[in-house]
Amino acid sequence: MVNLIIFGAPGSGKGTYASRLKDRLNVEVIATGDIFREMMKEETPLGRKVKGYVEKGLLVPDAITLEVLKQSLAKIPRGKGFILDGYPRTIEQAEALNGIAKIDAIIHLIVPDWIIIERLSSRRICKNCGAIYNLLYLKPKNDMVCDKCGGQLYQRSDDTPEVIKKRIEVYEKQTQPLLQYYMAKGVPFVEAKCEKLETPPETIVEEILKGLKRLNLA
Ligand code: ADP
Ligand code: ZN
Repeated sequence: MVNLIIFGAPGSGKGTYASRLKDRLNVEVIATGDIFREMMKEETPLGRKVKGYVEKGLLVPDAITLEVLKQSLAKIPRGKGFILDGYPRTIEQAEALNGIAKIDAIIHLIVPDWIIIERLSSRRICKNCGAIYNLLYLKPKNDMVCDKCGGQLYQRSDDTPEVIKKRIEVYEKQTQPLLQYYMAKGVPFVEAKCEKLETPPETIVEEILKGLKRLNLA
Protein backbone atom coordinates (compact mmCIF):
# COMPACT_ATOMS: atom_id res chain seq x y z
CA MET A 1 0.00 0.00 0.00
CA VAL A 2 1.41 3.35 -1.00
CA ASN A 3 0.23 6.93 -0.37
CA LEU A 4 1.50 9.55 -2.78
CA ILE A 5 1.06 13.21 -3.63
CA ILE A 6 1.49 14.25 -7.26
CA PHE A 7 2.79 17.76 -7.28
CA GLY A 8 3.29 20.30 -10.05
CA ALA A 9 2.07 23.53 -11.61
CA PRO A 10 -1.33 23.74 -13.32
CA GLY A 11 -0.97 21.91 -16.62
CA SER A 12 2.09 19.97 -15.54
CA GLY A 13 0.16 16.76 -16.18
CA LYS A 14 -0.87 15.69 -12.68
CA GLY A 15 -4.23 14.31 -13.76
CA THR A 16 -2.90 12.72 -16.93
CA TYR A 17 -0.20 10.77 -15.09
CA ALA A 18 -2.24 10.01 -11.98
CA SER A 19 -4.95 8.33 -14.07
CA ARG A 20 -2.30 6.11 -15.68
CA LEU A 21 -0.48 5.36 -12.42
CA LYS A 22 -3.75 4.34 -10.80
CA ASP A 23 -3.88 0.86 -12.34
CA ARG A 24 -0.13 0.28 -12.26
CA LEU A 25 0.04 0.92 -8.52
CA ASN A 26 -3.43 -0.30 -7.60
CA VAL A 27 -4.32 2.93 -5.83
CA GLU A 28 -7.24 5.34 -5.84
CA VAL A 29 -6.79 8.83 -7.22
CA ILE A 30 -8.30 11.76 -5.33
CA ALA A 31 -8.37 14.82 -7.57
CA THR A 32 -9.86 17.77 -5.69
CA GLY A 33 -10.20 19.79 -8.91
CA ASP A 34 -12.31 17.01 -10.50
CA ILE A 35 -14.48 16.84 -7.40
CA PHE A 36 -15.00 20.60 -7.47
CA ARG A 37 -15.94 20.48 -11.17
CA GLU A 38 -18.57 17.84 -10.33
CA MET A 39 -19.90 20.06 -7.54
CA MET A 40 -20.03 23.04 -9.94
CA LYS A 41 -22.36 21.14 -12.25
CA GLU A 42 -24.91 20.97 -9.46
CA GLU A 43 -27.09 24.01 -9.00
CA THR A 44 -26.64 24.06 -5.23
CA PRO A 45 -25.43 26.94 -3.05
CA LEU A 46 -22.20 25.02 -2.38
CA GLY A 47 -21.68 24.29 -6.08
CA ARG A 48 -22.17 27.97 -6.93
CA LYS A 49 -19.81 29.03 -4.18
CA VAL A 50 -17.06 26.68 -5.43
CA LYS A 51 -17.59 27.92 -8.98
CA GLY A 52 -16.95 31.49 -7.86
CA TYR A 53 -13.42 30.57 -6.81
CA VAL A 54 -12.49 28.05 -9.52
CA GLU A 55 -13.54 30.31 -12.38
CA LYS A 56 -11.33 33.09 -11.05
CA GLY A 57 -8.35 30.78 -10.63
CA LEU A 58 -8.45 31.20 -6.84
CA LEU A 59 -8.22 28.48 -4.23
CA VAL A 60 -11.44 27.14 -2.79
CA PRO A 61 -11.47 27.90 0.97
CA ASP A 62 -9.79 25.33 3.20
CA ALA A 63 -12.96 24.49 5.15
CA ILE A 64 -14.69 23.22 1.99
CA THR A 65 -11.55 21.60 0.60
CA LEU A 66 -10.71 19.72 3.77
CA GLU A 67 -14.23 18.34 4.00
CA VAL A 68 -13.98 17.11 0.40
CA LEU A 69 -10.65 15.45 1.16
CA LYS A 70 -11.93 13.72 4.27
CA GLN A 71 -14.99 12.37 2.49
CA SER A 72 -12.86 11.05 -0.38
CA LEU A 73 -10.33 9.39 1.89
CA ALA A 74 -13.13 7.73 3.84
CA LYS A 75 -14.32 6.02 0.64
CA ILE A 76 -11.00 4.29 -0.06
CA PRO A 77 -11.19 0.57 0.69
CA ARG A 78 -9.10 -0.60 3.63
CA GLY A 79 -5.59 -1.61 2.58
CA LYS A 80 -5.64 0.44 -0.61
CA GLY A 81 -3.36 3.45 -1.08
CA PHE A 82 -3.95 6.71 -2.91
CA ILE A 83 -2.53 9.45 -5.07
CA LEU A 84 -3.57 12.98 -4.17
CA ASP A 85 -3.84 15.20 -7.24
CA GLY A 86 -4.39 18.86 -6.40
CA TYR A 87 -4.16 18.51 -2.64
CA PRO A 88 -2.47 19.95 -0.61
CA ARG A 89 -2.14 23.41 -2.15
CA THR A 90 -1.30 25.39 0.99
CA ILE A 91 0.78 24.77 4.09
CA GLU A 92 -2.46 24.77 6.10
CA GLN A 93 -3.84 21.97 3.90
CA ALA A 94 -0.61 20.00 4.33
CA GLU A 95 -0.82 20.34 8.09
CA ALA A 96 -4.41 19.13 8.06
CA LEU A 97 -3.34 16.15 5.96
CA ASN A 98 -0.59 15.28 8.46
CA GLY A 99 -3.21 14.48 11.03
CA ILE A 100 -5.11 12.15 8.68
CA ALA A 101 -2.67 10.12 6.57
CA LYS A 102 0.97 9.24 6.15
CA ILE A 103 2.59 10.23 2.82
CA ASP A 104 5.28 7.87 1.46
CA ALA A 105 6.58 10.05 -1.36
CA ILE A 106 5.98 13.13 -3.47
CA ILE A 107 5.95 12.88 -7.25
CA HIS A 108 7.22 16.24 -8.46
CA LEU A 109 6.55 17.21 -12.07
CA ILE A 110 8.98 19.72 -13.50
CA VAL A 111 7.69 21.42 -16.63
CA PRO A 112 8.73 24.72 -18.22
CA ASP A 113 6.17 27.53 -18.35
CA TRP A 114 5.89 27.62 -22.13
CA ILE A 115 4.79 23.96 -22.23
CA ILE A 116 2.22 24.62 -19.52
CA ILE A 117 0.65 27.48 -21.44
CA GLU A 118 0.60 25.55 -24.73
CA ARG A 119 -0.99 22.57 -23.05
CA LEU A 120 -3.64 24.33 -21.02
CA SER A 121 -4.93 26.37 -23.91
CA SER A 122 -5.45 23.28 -26.07
CA ARG A 123 -6.71 20.91 -23.36
CA ARG A 124 -10.05 19.15 -23.71
CA ILE A 125 -11.84 17.02 -21.11
CA CYS A 126 -14.50 14.35 -21.50
CA LYS A 127 -17.79 15.47 -19.95
CA ASN A 128 -18.67 11.89 -19.18
CA CYS A 129 -15.52 10.09 -17.93
CA GLY A 130 -13.07 12.94 -17.27
CA ALA A 131 -10.40 11.65 -19.70
CA ILE A 132 -7.90 14.37 -20.60
CA TYR A 133 -6.93 15.18 -24.21
CA ASN A 134 -4.93 17.81 -25.97
CA LEU A 135 -5.74 18.99 -29.46
CA LEU A 136 -2.02 19.45 -30.23
CA TYR A 137 -0.24 16.38 -28.96
CA LEU A 138 -2.65 14.04 -27.17
CA LYS A 139 -5.26 14.14 -29.85
CA PRO A 140 -8.62 12.42 -29.69
CA LYS A 141 -9.59 10.69 -32.95
CA ASN A 142 -12.36 13.27 -33.26
CA ASP A 143 -11.90 16.74 -31.72
CA MET A 144 -15.33 16.69 -30.12
CA VAL A 145 -15.67 13.10 -28.89
CA CYS A 146 -13.96 10.94 -26.22
CA ASP A 147 -12.07 7.92 -27.65
CA LYS A 148 -12.83 5.87 -24.55
CA CYS A 149 -16.52 6.43 -23.92
CA GLY A 150 -17.93 8.52 -26.78
CA GLY A 151 -18.69 11.38 -24.36
CA GLN A 152 -18.59 15.00 -25.45
CA LEU A 153 -15.29 16.88 -25.04
CA TYR A 154 -15.27 20.35 -23.53
CA GLN A 155 -12.81 23.04 -22.57
CA ARG A 156 -12.55 23.81 -18.86
CA SER A 157 -13.96 27.24 -17.97
CA ASP A 158 -10.70 28.04 -16.14
CA ASP A 159 -8.49 27.19 -19.15
CA THR A 160 -8.65 30.74 -20.51
CA PRO A 161 -5.50 32.90 -20.81
CA GLU A 162 -6.35 35.26 -17.90
CA VAL A 163 -7.40 32.50 -15.53
CA ILE A 164 -4.39 30.35 -16.50
CA LYS A 165 -2.15 33.29 -15.58
CA LYS A 166 -3.87 33.65 -12.21
CA ARG A 167 -3.61 29.89 -11.51
CA ILE A 168 0.12 29.91 -12.19
CA GLU A 169 0.51 32.93 -9.92
CA VAL A 170 -1.45 31.24 -7.12
CA TYR A 171 0.63 28.10 -7.60
CA GLU A 172 3.92 29.96 -7.28
CA LYS A 173 2.82 31.94 -4.26
CA GLN A 174 0.76 29.47 -2.24
CA THR A 175 1.65 25.97 -3.40
CA GLN A 176 5.32 25.95 -4.39
CA PRO A 177 6.45 26.56 -0.77
CA LEU A 178 5.10 23.09 -0.02
CA LEU A 179 8.14 21.59 -1.78
CA GLN A 180 10.40 23.03 0.92
CA TYR A 181 7.93 21.99 3.56
CA TYR A 182 7.97 18.32 2.56
CA MET A 183 11.72 18.30 1.94
CA ALA A 184 12.27 19.59 5.46
CA LYS A 185 10.06 16.79 6.74
CA GLY A 186 12.25 14.26 4.94
CA VAL A 187 9.53 12.90 2.66
CA PRO A 188 11.25 11.33 -0.39
CA PHE A 189 10.79 12.91 -3.83
CA VAL A 190 10.48 11.32 -7.24
CA GLU A 191 11.15 13.92 -9.91
CA ALA A 192 9.95 13.72 -13.48
CA LYS A 193 11.00 16.30 -16.03
CA CYS A 194 9.15 17.02 -19.22
CA GLU A 195 11.01 19.18 -21.71
CA LYS A 196 9.12 18.57 -24.93
CA LEU A 197 5.49 19.09 -25.85
CA GLU A 198 5.33 15.82 -27.70
CA THR A 199 6.70 13.56 -24.94
CA PRO A 200 4.06 10.83 -24.60
CA PRO A 201 2.53 10.43 -21.13
CA GLU A 202 3.74 6.81 -21.00
CA THR A 203 7.39 7.96 -21.05
CA ILE A 204 6.88 10.12 -17.98
CA VAL A 205 4.81 7.43 -16.26
CA GLU A 206 7.67 4.92 -16.72
CA GLU A 207 10.13 7.44 -15.30
CA ILE A 208 7.92 7.93 -12.25
CA LEU A 209 7.55 4.17 -11.75
CA LYS A 210 11.32 3.74 -11.94
CA GLY A 211 11.75 6.38 -9.24
CA LEU A 212 9.14 4.72 -7.05
CA LYS A 213 10.84 1.34 -7.49
CA ARG A 214 14.12 2.84 -6.32
CA LEU A 215 12.29 3.79 -3.13
CA ASN A 216 10.71 0.32 -2.91
CA LEU A 217 7.28 1.89 -3.33
CA ALA A 218 6.34 0.17 -6.60
P1 ADP B 1 -4.86 22.66 -12.16
O1 ADP B 1 -3.86 22.01 -11.26
O2 ADP B 1 -4.66 22.38 -13.60
O3 ADP B 1 -5.01 24.15 -11.89
P2 ADP B 1 -7.12 21.35 -10.76
O4 ADP B 1 -8.15 20.58 -11.49
O5 ADP B 1 -6.23 20.61 -9.82
O6 ADP B 1 -6.30 22.10 -11.90
O7 ADP B 1 -7.82 22.52 -9.94
C1 ADP B 1 -8.74 23.40 -10.53
C2 ADP B 1 -9.20 24.43 -9.52
O8 ADP B 1 -9.89 23.79 -8.43
C3 ADP B 1 -8.10 25.25 -8.83
O9 ADP B 1 -7.69 26.34 -9.62
C4 ADP B 1 -8.81 25.66 -7.55
O10 ADP B 1 -9.72 26.72 -7.78
C5 ADP B 1 -9.64 24.44 -7.19
N1 ADP B 1 -8.88 23.51 -6.31
C6 ADP B 1 -8.46 22.25 -6.62
N2 ADP B 1 -7.82 21.69 -5.58
C7 ADP B 1 -7.83 22.61 -4.57
C8 ADP B 1 -7.32 22.65 -3.25
N3 ADP B 1 -6.63 21.61 -2.72
N4 ADP B 1 -7.52 23.76 -2.51
C9 ADP B 1 -8.19 24.81 -3.01
N5 ADP B 1 -8.70 24.85 -4.25
C10 ADP B 1 -8.52 23.77 -5.05
ZN1 ZN C 1 -14.92 9.75 -21.92
